[in-house]
Amino acid sequence: MADKAVRILVRLGIGGMLAVNLSGELFPHQICKQMYGLKDEKGMLIEAPELCLKQFREVALKSELNNPEKVSLFVSKAFHAISAGSTLLPSGAVIGLPRWYLNRAKSDVENSGIKFDGKPITWDSELGQTLTESYLPTENMIAFTIGHEISHIQRLDFKMLEIFASPLWLYLTFKMCSLIPKIWKLHGALDMLLKLSICGLNYLCYKFMKQKVDHWSEFIADEMSAMCEPKVAEGGVEYFTRRIKLNLIQYKLLGEEGRKFYTDEGDEIKSHTHPKLTERLGKLRKIQLRTDLSKNSSQDR
Ligand SMILES: [Zn+2]
Repeated sequence: MADKAVRILVRLGIGGMLAVNLSGELFPHQICKQMYGLKDEKGMLIEAPELCLKQFREVALKSELNNPEKVSLFVSKAFHAISAGSTLLPSGAVIGLPRWYLNRAKSDVENSGIKFDGKPITWDSELGQTLTESYLPTENMIAFTIGHEISHIQRLDFKMLEIFASPLWLYLTFKMCSLIPKIWKLHGALDMLLKLSICGLNYLCYKFMKQKVDHWSEFIADEMSAMCEPKVAEGGVEYFTRRIKLNLIQYKLLGEEGRKFYTDEGDEIKSHTHPKLTERLGKLRKIQLRTDLSKNSSQDR
């Protein structure tokens, strides 16, 4: 009876995970865009600015993106970019740009309502100036972000892993637990303890592997974007340099509290799905150096 109930729960879990993971990719307009899209006071989605659309057209061409007309750009209400779907699917793909990519002048940042530690910002302070600099995107930064998200929508291998990894983990864990009584005839508490240990260990392995794959996917997306053109690589270096600088200032100003969120190098402690900012910056600088060297050598010829 208990076994039957567990089996039903596992089936429901696998079905639920597949449904959630697949629907995000199959219906990017209805789910990702609606959930993350920045809306005006009438509830209408805010259109992506022409500057961003122009960068998209250029980067899509350089990235050799198939069917770029099937990508819809939008402004996200979050401070980071997001994407879902694929141009190979009938419903296409969406790319959400950080809301601060709408900022065009210093005054836009100052009027954006950003607060620090719950208090208004003194804009001529070191923090105020760094915030203004950090939240004013350059064309190259916009191009880099778009290139990064284009890589995410192009890489179907990573998408498959993202969709099937969690249901597969649940299925394999269940299978391993059901094999135990056939191998060892354990009773009561011991049997339960072994099954719980398998669940725990499998979960730790899954978490470890998922983080490795997520980080790998981020590095590849950074690389694909930066390889488009030297100015896009420059945009990536600029993006991470500014973010690290802002984190370092917050680390300094928040004192003891800051140590919970940032390292003394400017990395974000609580960010597990993305690699360290300093590592990403280091890799981008190497790509930038390589592309600059090849550009110079082709000019010399
Ligand atoms: Zn990414």
